Amino acid sequence: MRLPDDPAAGGRAVRVRVPGKINLALRIGPRRPDGYHDLATVFQAVSLFDEVEARALDDGRVTVSMSGAEVKSVGRGLDNLAVRAACLLRERWGDSSLGAALSIRKAIPVAGGMAGGSADGAAALLACARLWDLPLGQPELLELAGELGSDVPFPLLGGCAYGVGRGEQVVPALARGTCHWVLALAPSGLSTARVFSRFDDRGDAPESTPAVPAALMKALAGGDAATLGRHLVNDLEAAALDLAPGLRRALDTGRALGAIGAVVSGSGPTVAFLAADARRADRLAVAISSEGIAQRVCRAQGPVPGARIVT
Ligand code: ATP
Repeated sequence: MRLPDDPAAGGRAVRVRVPGKINLALRIGPRRPDGYHDLATVFQAVSLFDEVEARALDDGRVTVSMSGAEVKSVGRGLDNLAVRAACLLRERWGDSSLGAALSIRKAIPVAGGMAGGSADGAAALLACARLWDLPLGQPELLELAGELGSDVPFPLLGGCAYGVGRGEQVVPALARGTCHWVLALAPSGLSTARVFSRFDDRGDAPESTPAVPAALMKALAGGDAATLGRHLVNDLEAAALDLAPGLRRALDTGRALGAIGAVVSGSGPTVAFLAADARRADRLAVAISSEGIAQRVCRAQGPVPGARIVT
C-alpha cells in the first residue's frame, strides 16, 4: 500500500508537515480500570504546523534536534514522542541498523492542548517509514500511532474526525466549509495528566457513556458556524480552569469581543475562539491581542489535511 504524497521517495531526507488540533467536542466518560477515561471527541486539524525532517543515519542512532518556541522544556530522548515513534517503527520492522536524525521545527504550542507532541510523533512515523522505504500504508501507521498515544493517530488523518476509546480510534467526520479561529496561547503549558487528575478529584465524570452533541455534528456537516459555535463543548474545561483560573477571563473576553464560540482546547491552556468569517476573525485577533489576555494570539483555520510529505 502506498503512503500519501511521497515526492521525496528515494531521497536521503524526508520532511513532513503536520497540523495541530482543536477538540470541537470533548466528552469524558468514567475512569476505566486501566486509569484511562473512555471519551468521545471531534477533532479538527488547524493550520498551525510543525515540521519534522528525518535524515538517514548509517550508524543506527535516532537523534532529535528542535527549534521554535518553548522547545527547551521538551526531552531529547525516548521521552520525545518523535524519537519514540522512530524507535517503535524500527523495532517493529526488526532492523536495528536503521537510524535517523530528526529535526523538529515547532509552531504548535508545547503542552498547549493542541497535541503538538502527538503531531510530531505522527510526523516522525510517516517520515521514517518513507526514509527507510518501509512498505507501510495509513492503516499500519494508524495502528502504530495508537500504541504511541491517544492523540497520535488523528494528525495522520487530519481534516475532521470522530474519536472514541482513549481518542485513538478515529474515523473521518463529515465537515463542510472553513472554521475561522483565533487562538489565545498561554505563557506556560498545562500537564494533561494533572488536568485529568483534577477532573477525577472534582467528580466531574458521568456514569454513562460519553457522546458528542448531535447538534454539533449536524452543524459541522452543514457548515453552520453559528450553531457549531454554540455547541462547542469540553468536559475538561472546568478542571483546566481550576488549574489556570486566568483562562476564565480569556474565555469571557473573547466572547464579549464577538466570538461566536469559545472553548479550551483539549486539556488546555490554549483557548480557541470561533469567528463568523475570516474578516471578523482578523478583527477579533487584533482585539484579543490588545486585551493582553494571552502570551501570543494567532489566526488559524480548519479543517486542514493531516501529516504530509513536503519537498
Ligand atoms: P494533548 O493535547 O495531546 O494532551 P498537549 O498539546 O497538551 O497534548 P504536547 O505539546 O503534546 O501537549 O506535550 C505534552 C508533553 O509531551 C509535554 O510535557 C512534552 O514535554 C512532551 N513531549 C514529548 N515529545 C514532544 C514533542 N515532540 N513536542 C512537544 N512536546 C513533547
